[in-house]
Amino acid sequence: MRVYYHTFGCKANQYDTERMRQEGEARGARSTTSWLDAEVCVVNTCTVTNQADAQARRFIRRLHRENPDARVVVAGCSAALKASMYESLDGVAGVVEGHDPVAVALALDPPLPEKPVQIELRRSLDRMDMEPVGGEILRHRQGATRGWLKIQDGCDRKCSFCATRLARGPSRSRDPEEVVREAAQLARHHPELVITGIHIGHFGLDLDPHWSLSRMLAHLLERVPDVRFRLGSVEATEVDDLLLELMETSGGRVAPHLHMPLQSGADPVLRRMRRWHTREMYRSRTLEICDRMGSMGLGADVITGFPGETADDHAQTVALVEELPFTYLHVFPYSPRDGTAAATGSDPVPQRISGERSRELRTLAQEKGSRYREGRVGEEARVVLEGDAALTGDYLRVGWEGPRPEETGVFSATLQGSGEHLYIAWSRDSSLN
Ligand code: SF4
Repeated sequence: MRVYYHTFGCKANQYDTERMRQEGEARGARSTTSWLDAEVCVVNTCTVTNQADAQARRFIRRLHRENPDARVVVAGCSAALKASMYESLDGVAGVVEGHDPVAVALALDPPLPEKPVQIELRRSLDRMDMEPVGGEILRHRQGATRGWLKIQDGCDRKCSFCATRLARGPSRSRDPEEVVREAAQLARHHPELVITGIHIGHFGLDLDPHWSLSRMLAHLLERVPDVRFRLGSVEATEVDDLLLELMETSGGRVAPHLHMPLQSGADPVLRRMRRWHTREMYRSRTLEICDRMGSMGLGADVITGFPGETADDHAQTVALVEELPFTYLHVFPYSPRDGTAAATGSDPVPQRISGERSRELRTLAQEKGSRYREGRVGEEARVVLEGDAALTGDYLRVGWEGPRPEETGVFSATLQGSGEHLYIAWSRDSSLN
């Protein structure tokens, strides 16, 4: 059976698709990269915004139009929240509410019943609770330089704009030894592993005895040599001192890069978002981190136009972004998500205004990013090759000139060019770390 996999959304979702693929292949399915010759198409959906739902719906309609014989199995976050909507679409043969790879693999198997198979969210979570992220470890991420290492799923916070936690359930950590085993396996194929999950700062709080993200990272550094680790998105308030020490002293084995969601720089908005930190908590911890780390890649997510956000609130966000040494930002105008507390809130900000605020912040982030890139000319960078480009530890995508090395790994070279066109010129004499 030929199966085409399509993923929407974040690294955790991409990881889940690889687990689905591996589970399917273990049961005899073959992966194909074209939906046109697929017998089954698995669509792993995302629900971060209402537009993400709409995108998945459009994509499924297109799949069915272009390959009406293919059976479509829908899984993922959006499927967890809108199962009956997906079930009603033409061509859909199965809906898995969530990311359980075993459930998806079962849904691939013909003969499929007349009516779509629906595997309920609760059952899917139960399976993951019993066998954290399904029995087998992930062996590699197909066709990719970097591997994703998912260490936990779900989230215990209750941010008022977020539907992810509704789709993914409470925070569940994987067994640390299983994480090490998977990292060692992935490191055979990937020179860099990104530690990912839905709320990785809560890793280990549900384990007995408790673990922490920093302890997990220390364990990985000790037990899995010859690979660079990069932290996925982590909250500023959850970066502890051990984590910083590991980043500082790892000699580049932990990429000097943090992505710490900010969402807003104004306390009244943070309160309505039900974030647990204040502007000052974020600001002071970030300054401490940057002071210790020196030059590093620093990113954040920001939402503009959250209900009730005033011009003054927005100005506070702008001022905070100006002050902190961000090298890039992901800025999104607020869009209400069905089922979330914020969606029923009053005082909406007109789309035109939240769009303008987004543009202002994106421009500011771009200027800051360009200045940072300019400052890196002539300095050393440790890169992994991704396609025709290279990715530095501090999360700059730069050009690669010269022959492609035969070996994979993390390469050291000097950054050349200008901020706009940074590149590294590679020669056989350049070093491989
Ligand atoms: S911390 Fe907030 S935004 Fe992040 S996954 Fe949890 S509830 Fe969603």
